[in-house]
Amino acid sequence: MSTLITNLGSLVTNDPSLGTLTDAAVVIDGDRIAWVGAAAAAPQADARFDAEGRAMIPGFVDSHAHLVFAGDRTAEFNARMSGQSYTAGGIRTTVAATRAATDAELEANLTRFIGEALRQGTTTIECKSGYGLTTEDEARALRIAAAHTPETTYLGAHVVAPEFKEDPAGYVELVTGEMLDACAPHARWVDVFCEQGAFDGDQARAILTAGAKRGLIPRVHANQLHHGPGVQLAVELGAASADHCTHLTDADVDALANGETVATLLPGAEFSTRAKYPDARRLLDAGVTVALSTDCNPGSSFTSSMAFCIAVAVREMGMTPDEAVYAATAGGARALRRTDVGLVAPGARADLLLLDAPSAVHLAYRPGVPLTAAVWQDGVRKV
Ligand SMILES: [Zn+2]
Repeated sequence: MSTLITNLGSLVTNDPSLGTLTDAAVVIDGDRIAWVGAAAAAPQADARFDAEGRAMIPGFVDSHAHLVFAGDRTAEFNARMSGQSYTAGGIRTTVAATRAATDAELEANLTRFIGEALRQGTTTIECKSGYGLTTEDEARALRIAAAHTPETTYLGAHVVAPEFKEDPAGYVELVTGEMLDACAPHARWVDVFCEQGAFDGDQARAILTAGAKRGLIPRVHANQLHHGPGVQLAVELGAASADHCTHLTDADVDALANGETVATLLPGAEFSTRAKYPDARRLLDAGVTVALSTDCNPGSSFTSSMAFCIAVAVREMGMTPDEAVYAATAGGARALRRTDVGLVAPGARADLLLLDAPSAVHLAYRPGVPLTAAVWQDGVRKV
């Protein structure tokens, strides 16, 4: 079954040989893209979809999200935005609620958020554990996530589990031992929150190295709240991505520019905590590959909207609209080491977002406006 999507006013392909096309068409065959080019030259297909001049981009690739959780942290956000200090709970609130939830409750939450993201054009989404912090609860989170996305990340090293408050070394031993053994079969990636109050450089190195020995590829929560060793450790260990990158020295930027590690920026976190945004312009000017992602989680960034992240990145982080759209699609694909998503080209997965707008610039130009006209995932129209 093939489908011709034609009369595209603008088509962002992210393919260097195709660029951004006007008056374009795409042919889907099965779950793949079969043809891309000028509408006037399009081949026949079994079915035809008239885009009526709208813009199309690759489906968003959200390469950083924390979606297996239970509970709610509205009060914490409300207090923070009301200028009150909020001392109760934080991440421990989510850990307690997640541990208390049934598998069915966690899966219902997860599928609700994946569906919410899909309706906004996200066709690939990464999902981390990190709210269980016991062997059983971390493995459960990843088992549930793996049923819904191939991009699962073991984040037992999110924070030290409350039971190990007085024995962080004991927790690192658990995370690199029994917990890793239980989680590795359900995960593609290993991640660590390398930050003051979470895990230091030596602990992060031990955790990432242990994960890599089990075949998991490193990615790192790095330099979010302070300067620190996270970014350079990520580059040194060949991590796919260093995430947050808010507090960077020149040496950090140089390391990213000279390495293979993508800088994944998560403006939802700074937005929701009233913090300083990362400087995307500085990274781009240095030649670093930048990805944009939501960091969707109940504490510090409860948005699943990639369009929102694009708008903030353009307004506050020095990105052009084209750069931000690229970072939210091809950049995310690079951060997940995927060559089959984040682009519209023959052979790529038919993951497509049709916008209710004549160009992708509208994602930043019309912030907060729902612009999803249609979404195809694996060649199937979902929205
Ligand atoms: Zn995160």
